[in-house]
Amino acid sequence: MSLILQGGCRCGQVRYTSSSPALDVRACHCRDCQYASGSAFSTVAYFPRASVELHGKLASYSVKGSDGLTVNRLFCPDCGTPMCSELVELPDLIFIKVGTLDDPNSVELGGHMWWRSKVEWLKIADDLEKLPANPPL
Ligand SMILES: [Zn+2]
Ligand SMILES: [Zn+2]
Repeated sequence: MSLILQGGCRCGQVRYTSSSPALDVRACHCRDCQYASGSAFSTVAYFPRASVELHGKLASYSVKGSDGLTVNRLFCPDCGTPMCSELVELPDLIFIKVGTLDDPNSVELGGHMWWRSKVEWLKIADDLEKLPANPPL
């Protein structure tokens, strides 16, 4: 795993770097992430907020997540790539969508969450942790 992770949106308007490796990587199967990804789940890498520098213009919207936490979702206003999210209740972390890393293989999946709302047709055979909802805060 490289020490400096970097990525950006599809059009290149938004770029970011992290001076810290990912703290964890989770596939989230919550209903909210299904909307936010437009797909069956989203995969997010957790970083210390202070280690991440974001460059470019971001648009955002705020929702109550599946567990009642307030989630700010940030995306590129030019190309629409979902970039990252922040939880108001956990201001020291930022959650970056792994599909926006220049090399999505530079991180490893640590487990699943919100397994209880995983779509039934998705068959996952790994032996990683499968939490029914969020990890405890
Ligand atoms: Zn863009
Ligand atoms: Zn989620």
